Formats: sequence, structure tokens, C-alpha cells
Amino acid sequence: MTDARQRPGWHLDQWLAGQTEQRQAQHLERKRRVLRANDPAGLQLDEETLINFSSNDYLGLASHPDLVRALKDAADQDGVGSGASALVSGYREQHRLLETELADFLQREKVLLCSSGYLANLAVTNSLTGKGDVIIQDKLCHASLIDAARLSEARLLRYTHGDIEALQRQLKIEKQGNTLVVSDGVFSMDGDVAPLQELATACEKHGAWLAIDDAHGIGVCGPGGRGTVAAAGLSQQQVPVLTGTLGKAFGCFGAFIAGSEALIDHLVNEARSYIYTTAMPPAIAAAARVALCHVVEDEWRREHLQSLIQHFRSGAQTRGLELLPSNSPIQPLVIGSSEAALNVAERLQNRGFLVVAIRPPTVRKGTARLRITLSSAHQLTQLDALLDAIAGELEHD
Ligand SMILES: *Cc1c(COP(=O)(O)O)cnc(C)c1O
Repeated sequence: MTDARQRPGWHLDQWLAGQTEQRQAQHLERKRRVLRANDPAGLQLDEETLINFSSNDYLGLASHPDLVRALKDAADQDGVGSGASALVSGYREQHRLLETELADFLQREKVLLCSSGYLANLAVTNSLTGKGDVIIQDKLCHASLIDAARLSEARLLRYTHGDIEALQRQLKIEKQGNTLVVSDGVFSMDGDVAPLQELATACEKHGAWLAIDDAHGIGVCGPGGRGTVAAAGLSQQQVPVLTGTLGKAFGCFGAFIAGSEALIDHLVNEARSYIYTTAMPPAIAAAARVALCHVVEDEWRREHLQSLIQHFRSGAQTRGLELLPSNSPIQPLVIGSSEAALNVAERLQNRGFLVVAIRPPTVRKGTARLRITLSSAHQLTQLDALLDAIAGELEHD
């Protein structure tokens, strides 16, 4: 009998060291840094002050005094933890009110709060599909949607990014069960918007269900901030499943699924990632209710954000920087290799800008990029300073 311990790397730490070495050699190692938020657009890293171009706090609400006050007041009333799953004893009045208000806002029958967008996507995919069904996703769908499909026993098909004809070919494939078509509204690493009307038409024609994850759209774009689905004029019937997060434009935490009453009832009964996890703290729901008021009322935040986006894009063009086509606050500049992207990001940090390099497997190999995100908390002059710094750094290469 051979001793398993003779095998190289049998010891966990030894195996892990090998993994680390591989990641480092490929410039794919990830590190966390402790950052302190000092103002809506700024961060403190040790002694350094950085302007933050890597946050999804698109409307600058995360540190808004009204949200902070709501959180504190609700914690005084309800405490901190919800103490249990929503189905056991964790469902509170603040949750119910937020669900109702979000449903009104999104013009959907009902809303279900989830503890995160990742869990919301698991909930949708796994309660609506199983053996014999088919899930069809855009190839650039968010990692949480890919993981959700992997967890389902349904067959997963993926089409080339935005390619409706490829989707239609997949919709024609013979199948016994149901078909769920899934796409991001705004794509998280590219910033472009899915062809939603075409998706809805194709799904209608082939009797498929359409689920849109509008994590980066709701609050940011569309009429009254209702996102890409509302911007495309699509109803609950055309997009029966709509998910969003409270962690981005809402500046809070948690997520939601919006749709028909029947859909929400089904999720409450069947979605394991909803049932078997602790309900979000009620004080977070209270803060999100106040965030929703600002999302609805503060049209100026979206207007300012739009003017920042236009200013950034024209400034990039003037300086010869080629951004991906995007009208969202996600403005990616593809660098190429992970090493080069990391280098530029580090030099930008030395100049006082936090712009994180996004590398594989988050994006395709050879397309490592600076993912610059804009927030209504930014000022035009900060954008000019960043653009000058990027142009200066890339010129040195
Ligand atoms: C951020 C994001 C999520 C995850 O949302 P969380 O609430 O942060 O878990 C899901 N889908 C997309 C497209 C995202 O960008």
C-alpha cells in the first residue's frame, strides 16, 4: 500500500502554497486593503487620500446622512440582527414596507427581498429550473448567474455577447421542459446594455421566460431611475423576473426580485437561497426605504451622473484613450495583460486615484482592464485629473 503522504503536496498548506505561486506567476493574485470612506467620492488608505473610481455607489447615497439616521433609528427600535430566516421569525415590518414600496416603484405586482444579489440569482434560477429544462445566458452574464445555472440541474447554453441570432438558434433546440433566458441589464464589466426588446420578442416567440438582472441599471437609468427594463418599455409580462441589488445605486445592502404575485409566492416556498439564510437586518431595510425616496426624488443625481459620463467619454477621446462603448457609469479601458493592467492601476494609486484592475477569470484572458466607475458624488475636475493621469501613465509605456 502506498502512503498518501508520499504524494507531493499532500499537506494542505503545501498545496495552497503551490496555488499561490501559480496565481502570482500569472499576475492573478488578489489582495484586500483596508480602506476608510472619508467622503462620498474619497477613501483613505493608510496616510493616503484616494479619489474612488471603483465603487458601485453610483448615486453617492452610501454615506448620505438621511440613510445613516434611518439605520440608527431603526436599530434602536428593532436591534441589529433579524435572528432567523424570513420564513421562521426574521420577517419584519421594515421588510414588508420596503417590498411594497419597491413593487410600486418598479411597477410590478410584488417584490421579495433577498440577503444579496448573488443569493437572489440563485433563488430565481434554482426555483424555476431543474432537470429537463434549459437555461440560456449571455456569455458575459455576471458570475452569480453562471454559478446559479451550475447549481441547477437544467442544461446551460450560452450565446455570444448580445448576439440575438445565436440566442434564437438556441431557442429552437428541441426540448421537453421550460426555458429560462437570463441576461444582465447593464453588463457589469463592460457597461453596455443588453438588447432587451429583442430579447423579449425572441422569448415571447419561443415561449421562453425572461429574467433580467438589472443590478447596475435600477436607480441609475430609465424613467425615474427604474432601470433598463423600464427604459426599454417592457412590462411584467414581457420580463416576468426582474432582479436588482440594494448594494449599488441604493448605497445599502441586500437585493430584491420583482414580478407577479404568483412568482413571489413560488420563491417564498421553493427558493433555497431565500429560505435557508438569515433575513437582512431590518435596519438595513429601513435605510433602503430612505434610499428609495432619494432614488425617486433626486433626479439631479442621475442628471449629474449623465453629464459626468459624457464629460468623461469626450475627455477620453480628446486624449486618445479608447474606452469600451458604454453610456453607463461603468467605463472600462481595456489594457490587455493582467500585469500591465496591475501596473497602471498601481501607478494611478500613487497619484491618488483608486481604479481597480479587473483581470481573468472575471474578464476574458487578454482583456484585463481598468474598470472606472463614476458616481454622482464626483466632480468634473476629478474626472479631468484622472484622465490626465491615465493618459500620462499610458504614454510612458
Ligand atoms: C453586483 C452584482 C450582483 C450581486 O449583487 P450583490 O447584492 O452584491 O450580491 C448580481 N448581479 C450583477 C449583474 C451584479 O453586478
